[in-house]
Amino acid sequence: MARIHLDGVGHSYDGGRTYALQPADTLFEDGRTYALLGPSGCGKTTMLNIVSGLLFPSDGRVRLGERDVTRAAIADRNIAQVFQFPVVYRSKTVFGNLAFPLKCRNWDKPRIERRVSEVAELLGLTARLGRSARSLTADEKQLISLGRGLVRDDVAALLMDEPLTVIDPQMKFDLRRRIKQANERTRHTVIYVTHDQNEAMTFADEILVMQAGRVIQRGAPAELFERPLNTYVGTFIGSPGMNFLPATQEGATVLIGDAVIRSDVRAPVDGTLTVGVRPEHIRLSQTGAGLPARVVAVQDQGNVRVLDVELAAGGRLKAKLPREQAIPAGEVRIVIPAQHAHIYADGVRADV
Ligand code: ATP
Repeated sequence: MARIHLDGVGHSYDGGRTYALQPADTLFEDGRTYALLGPSGCGKTTMLNIVSGLLFPSDGRVRLGERDVTRAAIADRNIAQVFQFPVVYRSKTVFGNLAFPLKCRNWDKPRIERRVSEVAELLGLTARLGRSARSLTADEKQLISLGRGLVRDDVAALLMDEPLTVIDPQMKFDLRRRIKQANERTRHTVIYVTHDQNEAMTFADEILVMQAGRVIQRGAPAELFERPLNTYVGTFIGSPGMNFLPATQEGATVLIGDAVIRSDVRAPVDGTLTVGVRPEHIRLSQTGAGLPARVVAVQDQGNVRVLDVELAAGGRLKAKLPREQAIPAGEVRIVIPAQHAHIYADGVRADV
């Protein structure tokens, strides 16, 4: 296993006219699990393929540990990759599929058997080891692809490109748990590509949020949720995303309409001011204080309800409330707790 260092790495598919991945330094620490998260076309697969060696970057150097592998072939990098669609040897049994990478490395039979049975157990495949891969469902085939990635304990990294796309939504949750458990034992360096924030949030130690070929914020899931660096991350992370409301500043005070939201601002905010607040942190006032507003729609999501609210001062927001909380008809008053009111200037977090 190894730390992966992308040193000024970028890639242009058109000879430098445009960059699918903007040149930058990116570090993946040994033994941690990372998710590359972002919308279609933001450069996730390009970055992953540069690490695996499927693609040579047009700019920068790739290092695995101390080794420069920028131009090294895939086979020389000792990296396992799991793709969106399962890759299995249909003529082999489940055991044969899992054992294959180990046989290629000349492991002896008892060692192979021990390792395959460990991984099969982790992935819940033990009862199916003797079955032909041909007879398996798509979910089971993808489990085997994952198992082949996990079976080698000597890989420098395990890369996964949207591996759960073909999986039935019901099974996704279970599979995510199994992959996570399996990796807690093997401690591979894992890079996991996804455009699904739930997948990234539940799976990764650290998430790299990408936009237009750049990593625009990286951090633990809770950090991205609590302290988005810009309005893009605030909106992208969370369901629904963070609310952003036009605000004004008077000295140390930030106001929405004439309601004081924060009164501890140390410096003047330069640029167009907005207050960001998560739907989860908004409360309905019980006392008559707060921002006058009107509930325009309520969406029932089972254990919570999402309110679509129009503020009298202008602007709309979403509030997430516990299902049992009564929602008054007509006018309401909205409370934005100061500790959850984040200040943004021209879309960028202002630490003031
Ligand atoms: P997706 O989730 O859709 O796979 P992604 O975030 O993984 O998207 P990439 O596949 O890395 O994004 O693509 C980044 C950009 O590079 C896109 O604009 C894409 O059209 C372009 N691109 C990707 N592969 C090639 C290629 N082989 N030739 C030319 N352009 C490419």
